Parts: sequence; structure tokens; C-alpha cells
Amino acid sequence: MLYCKSFCQKLNLHRLRSISSLVQTKAFIDGNWVKAQNNEEFEVFNPANGAVIGSVPNMDPKDANQAVHAAKKAFELSEWSKMTAKERSSLLKKWYYLIEKNADELASIMSAESGKPINEARGEVTYGNAFVEWFAEEARRICGEVVPSPTKDREIIVLKQPLGVAALITPWNFPMAMITRKAGAALAAGCTIIIKPAEDTPLTALALVKLAEQAGFPNGVINIITTNKAAPIGELFCKSPDVKGISFTGSTEVGKWLFRNSSDGIKRLSLELGGNAPFIVFNSANLEIAVNAALSCKFRNCGQTCISANRFFLQEEIHDKFINLLKQRVETLKIGEGSEPGVQIGPLINTMQFNKVNAFVEDARLKNANIISGGKPLTNLGNLFYSPTIITDVPVNAKLYTEEVFGPVVSIVKFKTEEEVINAANNSNRGLAGYFFSENIQQVFRVAKLLEVGMVGVNEALISAAEAPFGGVKESGIGREGCHHGIDEYVEIKYVCMGNLKY
Ligand code: NAP
Repeated sequence: MLYCKSFCQKLNLHRLRSISSLVQTKAFIDGNWVKAQNNEEFEVFNPANGAVIGSVPNMDPKDANQAVHAAKKAFELSEWSKMTAKERSSLLKKWYYLIEKNADELASIMSAESGKPINEARGEVTYGNAFVEWFAEEARRICGEVVPSPTKDREIIVLKQPLGVAALITPWNFPMAMITRKAGAALAAGCTIIIKPAEDTPLTALALVKLAEQAGFPNGVINIITTNKAAPIGELFCKSPDVKGISFTGSTEVGKWLFRNSSDGIKRLSLELGGNAPFIVFNSANLEIAVNAALSCKFRNCGQTCISANRFFLQEEIHDKFINLLKQRVETLKIGEGSEPGVQIGPLINTMQFNKVNAFVEDARLKNANIISGGKPLTNLGNLFYSPTIITDVPVNAKLYTEEVFGPVVSIVKFKTEEEVINAANNSNRGLAGYFFSENIQQVFRVAKLLEVGMVGVNEALISAAEAPFGGVKESGIGREGCHHGIDEYVEIKYVCMGNLKY
């Protein structure tokens, strides 16, 4: 049996490599594909079946330090930050076209290591690449200003200059888009970068960097290090005076840790952290639109999305009808391995995530919530599959209500008035996204302004776009990604006072 498992694992690894030459086994520093200095590696698994699909260097702060030096040298000595904006834009465009050309291979790698259905993975490649395209365009529009001076003999000139070396730390739930959303902006601004992808999904990240190498970025401009020991590397990024900025997407806990640890150097931080999104359906809502939105918002990537709806608030009149409609749809969702055609729900990413979802549902059950669909592991499919679940009457002290579940669970609370639901929705220390459904125009403007979140979906749940500013308030983060605001995270504003001018 053991022999059989290991044979199958090797077969899977072999298969993925034969599907794509983009599967890498080394990291990339200063233009070279390298092993870890300690020669250690760690394995990457397919969460659907536990098969090993790759192994990558298990790097430590020594390697990270080497990457920081390479990025610093490239920033100071290569022409990157001094290149014309048009030249940087052209390289980003080349990267964009290569990603587009290799989209199917990237999607296969992503689906294999993250478990997400292949259609979703393909969608993420398109979405993620939109940031490369957008920032290739924005690179040419990072404009300074000339501000009217209060005196006749002066000019006030405002320059935007690249920050320097930026460390980009990304999660596993969007293995590509979370990288390009940062890297596109940083490179457009003229920064050099070190990418630290999640331990669960390094292969998509390495494949992206392989394509960046083919695009012809100068050595040291883009570096990537892989590891399953993130904390010491995070500490090095926080403490190193050569790292001028850290852009992090991940949990609020790690975000706070990075914030604390980089406070000595007053480092520039961009933090995209966890959410606890309310999804409010008012009596006036178009229920068909609301149910469709609930499905895409909650079950995309098996609920492992930072802007996924976490608390569903249904107004009294439509409460039962909405649940009936949703239940019918949820029970037809196709669950399985991401590579199988038609699959809509894959596995959870790892055992920790699986146990968390299971524990949250059990906690709600113990607190007398009503499980009306699912609510159990699907052991027949594998170790990490959990049934799409609907739970009503979720009490406000349940973990499902107070914390981000990051799984395929719809937690429902009934409400009577607008005022009551706004208070409940805002009663959270997170403020990433929020959604509501209403056909009442007065209510639409009122509620959109009152929700304490960085992003609001009105009669819409798929709100992310390269053109729109992505980010949260409260403990959901600081800074914005995407849109022209995304560039601001990677530039310093310098004021130049031209004095004693004689006109
Ligand atoms: P995580 O545990 O915080 O990990 C995120 C990244 O940080 C991974 O690369 C991880 O490496 C690394 N990391 C962990 N500890 C670190 C440390 N001490 N120093 C430096 N890096 C460290 O989060 P996750 O579980 O992967 O992702 C899920 C969370 O991300 C959710 O809360 C979700 O809401 C949030 N998220 C937010 C957004 C947004 O845009 N706001 C988008 C996506 C996800 P390892 O993988 O090796 O642990």
C-alpha cells in the first residue's frame, strides 16, 4: 500500500511536470535559479488527493538576505529605477503577453496545488494578469505635480519616486492574483521586489517568475524565495534597513505581527488582511440576483476568499424564501477534484483550514444554530472536502459570526430593521468588504455610506477588478491595491522647493 501511494505520488509529480515546463524546483535570486543554501527542500501537495506535485527550496534568512542584496543592487545599479517609464511599461507588457500565452498551463499548476476548480483557476489567471496589464499602462502615468506657490519667487514641485526594495508576502487562496496585484504596481513604480509566496502554493508563483525571466526583466529586479519557515524571513524583512516596504496579504494576526516588528524602522507597510463581510438582503431585493450573488460570493474557491460573505443577514419578509431558493441551488453544487470537468467546489487547502471549518460548525451546532444543509466532512471524496453548508439562527456569540470561517458555510441571521442590521454589520473589528441587496434607491445610498468597510457591493458580489481600489478599514488593513491608488504604496512623495526665482 505504502509503495503504491509513493508510486502514485511520483506519477502525479511527473504528470504535472509533463503538463507544464513552467513547474520549477528552484527559487530565483539575482537572475539565477538557485537551491536553498542549506540544500533543504519541502514538498507541495495536491489538497484533493494528497499527491506530491512538486518540491521547492526550503529557504531561510540567509537566502532571504541574499535576495534583499540582489534587489538592492538592482535598484541602485541597474537601470531599473532610472529606466524610462515607457521601458518599464514595455517589459510589464511582455510579461502580460507571456502570461496570456501560458494561461492554461498556469491554471493547471494552480488548480493542482490549491485545489480550486480549473475554471476558477483559469479565471484567476485572467484576473491576475489584468493587474500586470493595468500597471503596465499606469507605469506611464505616475505623474508629479507643480502646485501654485504662495510667493512669487518660488515653484513648488512634487516628485513621485520609487520606494526601493519591496518585499511581497502572499497567501495561498489566490496564488497568482495576490502576487501580480503587488508586483505589477511595485515594478511600474520602479521598485525591485522579493516575492515570498505561501508554503502551500509556491509553484504558481515560481511559474510566474519563470515567465518574467523570459520577458527579460534585468537581473535582481524580480526575486522569489520559497520556504515553509516564514517567521524568520518575515523578521528579516521587518528589520532590514534595505527593505523599504513590505506588502502583505494574509491573516490579520500575521499582519499585526509584521506591523509590530517593523515599527522600529518606521517601514512602509501595505496590509491586506482578513474580513468578516456582511451580506444583507433587504425585503425589496431582487431575490434571484441575491441568491446568484450568494452562491458566487460564498462558494468561490470553497469559501476561502477574504471578501467572501461571512455573515448573511436576511430581512424577515424574505428570510424563508431566500433560504429555500439558496438551499435548492447549494444542493446541486458539484464537488470534487479541481481538474474534473464541471466541478464547482474543491477541497479546503490543508488540514488546519479543514479542522477550523469543522470546529466552527460544531461550535454553532452546540450553540443551538439550525443546520439545514450539509454540516459535515465528505470523507468519501478525500481528507479535505467539506459539504456546502447552510446554517440559520446563528447566535452572535458563535465563532461563525464573530470570526472569518474561510470555508463553504452560509451563516444566517434574521433581522427586522435597517438600523438594527447596520449596527450588527458594523459590530466587527474587521472592515474589508460588505454586500447588500435592495431595489430602494434611498436605502442604497444610505446603506452604502453607513457600512464600515473598504468595499461595498450593491446588488453585486463579484466586485474585484484591476481598475478598482481593493482594501479594507479597521483591522482589515491599510493601503489599497489595484486602481491608480495601488501605485501609491510603492512611491515616496518628494517636495522640491525652487527658490529665489527671478521672473
Ligand atoms: P497567513 O497565515 O497570514 O499567511 C499569509 C502569508 O504570510 C503566507 O505566505 C505565509 O507563509 C506568510 N507568513 C506567515 N507567518 C509569517 C510571518 N511571521 N512573517 C512573514 N510571513 C509570514 O494567511 P493565510 O492563511 O495564508 O491566508 C488567509 C488569510 O488571508 C485570511 O485571513 C484572508 O482573509 C486573508 N486574505 C486577505 C486578502 C485581502 O486582500 N485583504 C486576500 C486574500 C487573503 P506560510 O504559507 O509559509 O505560512
